[in-house]
Parts: sequence; C-alpha cells; structure tokens
Amino acid sequence: MAHLRFEALKEVMKRHPKSVNFDGIVLSKEFGKNVFNDVTMKEFLSDEAYKSVRASRLSGKVIDRSMADQVSSSMKAWALSKGATHFTHWFQPLTGRTAEKHDAFFHPIEDGRAIEKFDGSELVQQEPDASSFPSGGLRNTFEARGYTAWDPTSPAFIYDDTLCIPTIFVSYTGHALDYKAPLMKAAAALDKAATDVCQYFDKSITNVNATLGWEQEYFLVDQAFFKSRPDLLLSGRTVFGQASSKGQQLDDHYFGSIPERAFNFMRDFELEALRLGIPVTTRHNEVAPNQFELAPMFEELNLAADHNQLVMDVMEKVARKHDLHVLLHEKPFAGMNGSGKHNNWSMSTSTGSNLLGPGKTPKTNLRFLTFFVNTIKAVHEHADLLRASIASAGNDHRLGANEAPPAIISIFIGSQLTSILDEVERAVTAGKMSPDVKTDLKLKIGRIPAILLDNTDRNRTSPFAFTGNKFEFRAVGSAANCSQSMTVLNTIVAKQLKEFKKSVDSRMKSKNLQKDEAIFQVLKEYIVSSKDIRFEGNGYSEEWVKEAKKRGLSNQKTTPYALDAYVSKSSKSLFKEFNILTPEELEARHEISLENYKLKIQIESRAMVDLAMNQIIPACLKYQKELLDGVSHLKEIFPKEFEKMAKAQIEIVREISERVEKTRTLTYEMIAARKRNNELDSVSSEAKGYCDEVVPYFDKIRYEVDKLELIVDDELWPLTKYREMLFIK
Ligand code: ADP
Ligand code: MG
Repeated sequence: MAHLRFEALKEVMKRHPKSVNFDGIVLSKEFGKNVFNDVTMKEFLSDEAYKSVRASRLSGKVIDRSMADQVSSSMKAWALSKGATHFTHWFQPLTGRTAEKHDAFFHPIEDGRAIEKFDGSELVQQEPDASSFPSGGLRNTFEARGYTAWDPTSPAFIYDDTLCIPTIFVSYTGHALDYKAPLMKAAAALDKAATDVCQYFDKSITNVNATLGWEQEYFLVDQAFFKSRPDLLLSGRTVFGQASSKGQQLDDHYFGSIPERAFNFMRDFELEALRLGIPVTTRHNEVAPNQFELAPMFEELNLAADHNQLVMDVMEKVARKHDLHVLLHEKPFAGMNGSGKHNNWSMSTSTGSNLLGPGKTPKTNLRFLTFFVNTIKAVHEHADLLRASIASAGNDHRLGANEAPPAIISIFIGSQLTSILDEVERAVTAGKMSPDVKTDLKLKIGRIPAILLDNTDRNRTSPFAFTGNKFEFRAVGSAANCSQSMTVLNTIVAKQLKEFKKSVDSRMKSKNLQKDEAIFQVLKEYIVSSKDIRFEGNGYSEEWVKEAKKRGLSNQKTTPYALDAYVSKSSKSLFKEFNILTPEELEARHEISLENYKLKIQIESRAMVDLAMNQIIPACLKYQKELLDGVSHLKEIFPKEFEKMAKAQIEIVREISERVEKTRTLTYEMIAARKRNNELDSVSSEAKGYCDEVVPYFDKIRYEVDKLELIVDDELWPLTKYREMLFIK
C-alpha cells in the first residue's frame, strides 16, 4: 500500500478554500442568538422566575424548586423553538475537555403518543454515569456516581441540536470532580476579600468580579495530513520531523495576511462562536507558519472560562467542515514556536471600575496601587502554586524552551511603575508621616494614570506582565482549561488581600495611624518583601536563569516536580482556609495530573516506537537495499572504477546503518525505561520516573530519525514532512 503521506499529498493538492456564505448576515444581530441570555429570559420567563435567576446569578442564591420548574419549562419552549431535540448537562471533568450526555426531550406517554418533557429536576441535577471519569481515588467503584448541578451564572446555550446547561460536577460525598466548582469558589473568595478592601476607598462597592480575557493560540493543518501522521493523531504533536528549510525565520507569517483557507475557517467558526455569545473580536496570524490566534473581549471569569472551553470545541468542529484540523497542543512542531493561552486578568467592581485600572482621583490611585501591589505580593508568596497550575506534559516543551516564558515565575511591570514603587518605598516612613511627605506621595501617585496611558513598555518574555490595566499570565498552555491557573490566581490574591486588610486594620488600631498612612506602610512592606519576583529584563536569557537562582526563585522545569506544590502543607491550608479545595481533593487532583502526565508521555513514547520500528527503519532499509543493488551493479559493470564511483552510495549506506542501529538501540532502551517505571509504589514516582528516564530519549531518538529523513529518498519516506504540512494556502 502506498504511504498515507502520498495519498494525503494528492488529496490536499485538490483542495479549494471552502466558501462561506455570509450574505445578509449582520454579526451584531447574530450575537448570542443561541444563548438563553437576559433578553431571551425576559421574553420566555415570568417576571418572578426571571428575577430569581438574576438574583441567583448576582448573589449565588439557590433557586427553589418551583422556580426551577418554571425556568426549565421556558428553557424547553425556547430550545424547541430553535429546533433543539435534546438537552445535556455540560461539564468539565478533570481530564478531557468537556463532557456531556444527551437526553431527548422526547418522552413517550400512554396511547402510543409522545410529548416533549424537561422539568425542573432535570435542569437542576443530573447523574451522569461518572465511573469512568478520573477521580484520583475519591470515589470507589461501588460509589461510582457523582452528579452535575446547574450553574445559573453561566447561561444555557444551544449547540447543534442540543440545549446545553453549564453545570458543576461533584461526587455524592460532596467532593469537586471538575474544574468549574473550585473556580467559582475561588472567584467568590476573591470577591469577598477584594470587596472588604474596597471599603477603605469606596463604601458603595458591594461586590468585585474577577475578569478574564483569554487569547488562544493554535495551529491548523489539513485534515488529510493530520490523519497521515499517527503521532499527531495519537498525541497531538509530531514526535519526528526535520525542520522545513523555510520555517519562521523570516517572521513573514506574523500579522501577515491570513491564508484564504484559514480565513474562511475563522469567519465560519467566529460566526458560530458569536451565536453562542462568545464575543470573539480579534484574529491574526502568529509567529510560526500555520499558527493563529483568536481573542474575545474579556468577560466575568467563570463565563470566560466556559467560553474558552466551548470555543475549543467549536473550532475543532468547524475545522472539519473546512478539511482542516486544529492543533491545540503546546508544541505540535519542534523547532517552531509553541502555542500558549494568555490569561488577561483583572478585577471589576459593582460600581463598574477596574481595580487594576488607573484612577482619576488620588483615592482611586491609592486603590489601584493597593490592588496592584497586593497582586505582586500574592504572586511572590505563591509562585510555586502558580507554576503548578500551568504544569502539563505539553507545556513542558514550551516553558523555558527559548520562545516562551521560562518556568521561573516573575512579574514585569515596566520602568515607570517600578519607579513609582521605588518612590513609595523611599518616602514612606515608620510611624506618623508628615503632611508634606503625604502630599508629596499623593502627587507622585497622582501621576499613575498618565503613566499607564502611554505604557508602551511591552516585555513579551515575562510570564506574568502588567499591561496597563490588567495582568497577563502568559505561561498558560494552549490546551489547558483556564480554570486551573485562574483558581490558583484568585485564591492567592484573595489570601493576600485578606492579610492586607488584617495588617492595615491592626495598624490603625494599635498604632493609631490614619487609614492612608496604614495602607502606605503595609504597601511599602510588600513592595520591599516582594521585590525578588519583579524582573524587567529578557526572560528568555541565560543570565536570568542565573539571576533567578541567586534570588532564590524556583525554576521547576518539569511537570511531575512542579505539581508537588499543590500538596504542600501551605497549599493545603490555603485552599482549606477559603473552602476551595479540601486536602483530600488536592491530593486527588495531584494524583490525576500525575497520572495524566505519565499516560501522555507513555502514549508519545509508544507512538515513537511504532513509527521508528514499523515505518522509519523499514523505509531506511529499503533505501539501503536499493543503494546496495546499485553498488553491486556498478561493481559488475565497472570493476576497476567501482570504488570511486560508488563512494557516495557506500557512505550513505554506512550512515543509514549507523543511524538505524542507534535508533533501534535507543528505542529498546526507552522501552526498558518505561517498563522500569511502570509498577512503582506511587503515581508520583512513576510520573517522575517517566520524566527523568523516558523523556530524555525523545530528543535522542528524534535526532537520529530526523537525520535519516535528510538522506533517505523522498519517495520512500513514510511520514508527511513539515514543509508539506506547514504552509496552508
Ligand atoms: P495583546 O496582549 O495581544 O497585546 P490586548 O492588549 O489588545 O492584546 O488585550 C489582550 C486581552 O486583554 C483581550 O482579550 C482583552 O479582552 C483583555 N482585557 C482587556 N481588559 C481586561 C480586563 N480588565 N480584564 C481582563 N481582561 C482584559
Ligand atoms: Mg497577549
């Protein structure tokens, strides 16, 4: 059989951009069309039911049963009017992206008739058979079910023919089995702590919402190419592949014009995303060929996280229509940029102001400074947790690989804000401050808004950067659920704000300081004690790695080690204090992440072995035989000149022999390393064993195979090459 590679190449040669019919479509009219949003609710719900859903959204108050019946019947009416036939609880289990189990509205009754049925109990709670979702030993098999519970803060939507109800997923023992439940708790903890601190500045603030604006990077490849590469198919990344002679070195893809096939795909999925209420606004090419990015307007955290999950599904589905495949893996191609997910994060008050945005008055400037410095301090205190929150097998390829932020957590704030912090540090004294000093300080802080407006200082190498009115966490992996890192960020900032309030209050009381004096003093302490986390230089440089080490910042390069921060004593007490995750839940999550890491590496390693042994080596030997046949013929025909004439062939034959031998030996060694680490006493040692003893073979084996790709006849090479896959027209 001909190699899939050649079938794929033939297929792709015949491709044309799929046209998308946008006749008469006005995007603003499409927005939210498939969402049971406020407008739709008002139309379909009684006044009373509408108010109760709204109240529950704003305050987290539980909706009572009779109201739930009303809501479900209106939801059903709306869904049926839009042609939906099924409903599902939509949730985010700990591995896999989203899960759903569809039930029909259709319900047979007596006399052979049927009705459409969806009642309050079906809206509020469901019991998916959860025995096969990962639970890290939280549920034993005889208690293998959990339930999903409606999250009224994220509106229901229709996807294809199904009404999807966003839900949290918990076990019967009350343990969280998903990403959403802890995220919502962390958001609530931040709300409480931030609102308390806001009272120093503005008593009319009743709550604070975290906001998230994600940017999603991804690669596109033709569906036929995707299917032709078993490694892509199985692991989402190419384990072999010689760099294309033209890669990203010309930087001509970045912000260049979008290739037509990709453009049509984008327009198509953006329309679908808009209909689902996802406010996608930005699209552009990224640095590497075939790499793109999309970003929506920011939204309230929980909704934004749901929307990111949803958008990843929508992209994949729409891509298939365009004969394309979306790669969300952090590093699908070696030697080129990987993909990340930038999480832009801030806090927004019930009065509509951004707590990380510059203010107009001295009071709001001090408020800005308070939240700004507290965030820095939180990251300083809990950098290890933040690092753990972005750990995954895929992201290990990216962090520190000289194209993405290193695995060292640091914060960039720009030179002007740095000098403001320096001035606060210099000016604030212990005890009472003189009126002159205070006035001077306020004047300086008063300059913040102007500074932020022209803050063009953009350091792209920092994992956590302040960008004018928000922090941007850039080290998040492209395939990750935003909730992992956002749960940690919101929790640590909540903790920090709570500590801050305690310190300020106690100074006001014990030292009889005025409020702003107390605030300045605590901020000064934080500025000094968190200085080490601030870094303005090139985060990709070798000097930074050395400097960070001197500062005592940790540089945890690999997932199984980074994950340990989750189960440290301080992490357990932190998550417990805010009632976000119990020590048991943390242990369970830790175990699931480790297991997941090990399985991913195992799959990649197996894919590598299969490809090397069953495809690469046979192709090499075939080519070698051809060469040797040629050499024999030369010898027959030109017995005297043969040595000179066959020199190149013989050298190639020799190189193939050597590299094939190395590939085979390394492959067997890697298999042995896998075996050694398969039956250890804990998932943690297995994952660490895979990390330390299996992963190092990846580069070594790849090196040999990629060299072979350079010398073996193109006609015989079985794997679709980078240069073929990477340039969508
Ligand atoms: P880039 O990082 O590519 O230069 P922008 O500065 O335009 O991009 O914005 C990046 C993202 O920041 C956008 O997705 C936007 O929605 C988000 N963003 C803007 N303001 C906030 C905010 N207050 N909270 C959270 N995200 C925000
Ligand atoms: Mg960005």
